[in-house]
Amino acid sequence: MKRILISGGSRGIGRGLVEAFGRNGDKVAFIYKNNHEAAEEVAKTTGAVAICADVSDPNQVRRAVKEAEQALGGSVEMLINNAGISLISVMQDVTDAQWREILDTNLSGAFYLSREVLSGMISAKKGRIIHIGSMWGKVGASCEVAYSAAKAGLRGLTLSMAKELAPSGITVNCVEPGVIDTAMNAKLGKETLAALVDETPVGRLGTPEDVSAAVLFLASDAASFITGQFLTVDGGFAL
Ligand code: NDP
Repeated sequence: MKRILISGGSRGIGRGLVEAFGRNGDKVAFIYKNNHEAAEEVAKTTGAVAICADVSDPNQVRRAVKEAEQALGGSVEMLINNAGISLISVMQDVTDAQWREILDTNLSGAFYLSREVLSGMISAKKGRIIHIGSMWGKVGASCEVAYSAAKAGLRGLTLSMAKELAPSGITVNCVEPGVIDTAMNAKLGKETLAALVDETPVGRLGTPEDVSAAVLFLASDAASFITGQFLTVDGGFAL
C-alpha cells in the first residue's frame, strides 16, 4: 500500500487514476480546483481524500501537500501530476494572461508539486513521480501553441528530474495521452471528435482507463528500472 497524491482527481483522467489506485489498495489524496461537487462524489465513492488547491499557486501547493501528508499518515510516496487545462486559439489571439495560465497550470504546477514532495522521498530514498503530458508536447498542435509548449516543457522537466533524482531512488516518467474522452474534449463538438477518431489508427477515442493502465505499470515494482521515459497512449495518432 502506497501513499499517493494525484492532481486533478475530480474528473476525467485524474478521476480514473484515483479509482484505479483505490482499487489497487493504495491510500490516495487528490487535488482539484473548482468542482467541489465532483470532488466530493469521487471522495465518497473511492474513499480518497479531496483537497481544494490551485496547482499554479506555490503557496496553495505547499498547504495542499501538508494536508495530503496529514491525511495519508506520512510523506507522499508517489506523485502523479495530472492537473491540466487546454486552450484552443490561433497564436496571435493568445493573450498574455492566457499564456501564463496555461504554462502556470500545466508546467509550473508540476514543478511546484514535485518540489514539495521531494524532501520526504529523498529521506525515504525512494519515490515515484509521473507527469501526465500530451502527444501534443511531442509533435506540437496547430492552434494549441501554449498547451503544446507547456507539455513539451514537461518533457524537459521529466528528463532533468530523472537524472537528478535517480541516485535518491526516485524515478520520474511521463505518460503522454492522445485524444481521450473527457470533459476537456467535450467542447470540440461531435464532428471534430469524429474526425479525430478517423485520424486515430486504432479507430476510437482513448478512455481514462487506457491512461490509468499505463500509469499503473510505471507505478508498479516491475517498472523500478525505468526512468526518464515517455509512454504515449494515443492509439497510434502521433505515429
Ligand atoms: P479534465 O478537464 O477532465 O479535468 C481536469 C482536472 O484538473 C480537474 O480535476 C480539474 O479540477 C483539475 N485542474 C485544472 N486546473 C487546475 C488547477 N489550476 N489546480 C488544481 N487542479 C486543476 O481534463 P482531462 O482529464 O482530460 O486531462 C487530465 C490531464 O491529461 C491534463 O493534464 C491534460 O492536459 C492531459 N491530457 C488530456 C488529454 C485528453 O484528450 N483529455 C490528452 C492529452 C493529455 P476541477 O474539476 O476542480 O476543475
